[in-house]
Amino acid sequence: MDMIRYMAALVAAGFLLVSTVGHAQDYPARTISVIVPFAAGGPTDTVTRLVAQSMARSLKQTVIVENVGGAGGTLGAARVAKAAADGYTLLLHHIGQATAPALYRKLPYDVLTDFEPIGLVTEVPMTLVTRKDFPARDFQELLSHVRRNAQKVSYGNAGLGSASHLCGMLFMSAIQTDLVTVPYKGTGPAMNDLLGGQIDLMCDQTTNTTGPIRSGKIKVYGVTTHSRVPSLPEVRTLSESGLPGFEVSVWHALYAPKGTPRPVIDRLVTALREALRDPLVKSRFAELGTEPVAEAKVSPDTLRTFLKSEVDRWGPIIRKAGVYAD
Ligand code: ASP
Repeated sequence: MDMIRYMAALVAAGFLLVSTVGHAQDYPARTISVIVPFAAGGPTDTVTRLVAQSMARSLKQTVIVENVGGAGGTLGAARVAKAAADGYTLLLHHIGQATAPALYRKLPYDVLTDFEPIGLVTEVPMTLVTRKDFPARDFQELLSHVRRNAQKVSYGNAGLGSASHLCGMLFMSAIQTDLVTVPYKGTGPAMNDLLGGQIDLMCDQTTNTTGPIRSGKIKVYGVTTHSRVPSLPEVRTLSESGLPGFEVSVWHALYAPKGTPRPVIDRLVTALREALRDPLVKSRFAELGTEPVAEAKVSPDTLRTFLKSEVDRWGPIIRKAGVYAD
């Protein structure tokens, strides 16, 4: 009897294996959904839509982008961690994937074990920007205004663990002044309020700020990279302006739920590499102040190692700052 059960289990396991492999060979047979864990119209959304459109051409399948914003990106990430591991639900997240374990005490997933890394996508500089009529002509005036009016200056961000939150945290600690923080589900809606003058200040990615900076709808006081950004050559680095060593940029990466079959991951890696080679994606990225990562970085192993190193790097910084969410 035991032998029969054992044989039946073996047959069932074999069947499962065959059906998974068969399924992987047909992949993708239906629409793929990429979850962006922030609101529509923001920087992660912009990067994802460009890449998803190009991946759809390569995969010969529809790829839709779904915005699941809130809690600094952790709601959308949780959705993907619990999704079926079949390659039809993916996550495009940023540096927040590495900061969440230290920031959120009750994270309902493990960033290192609940996802199948696919590859890095891009690294985006940030900019310190204000509403158009903010009363400061340059960075020095910005600093003195902010220091004198700290309790009145509002700082928009995309929630705890978002890139705009991290940059703001670094900025406030560099100038030793706490501002009034206003959280949103993404810097898309935060930008609308900055444009409307409802908030004063933001540190956001060039993929969201380049357009309104160029059209004069917001003011820029610095970029957060080591050297100037080619698409905004006149804008000084914050380091140059008097905050030495102030550097932060936002890496983005693509993930699938843990257990997604290897052939499916390989197909996605190929499609992602093709998307990042796509001249349309490259030229739009360049206009927005970013560029695709080097092709060697578009690999599951590189992303796995990099994510671990980022989790290890940010953990102590965040614990030292004493910032937590429940
Ligand atoms: N990536 C977020 C967004 O797309 C912004 C952020 O992390 O600051 O809204």
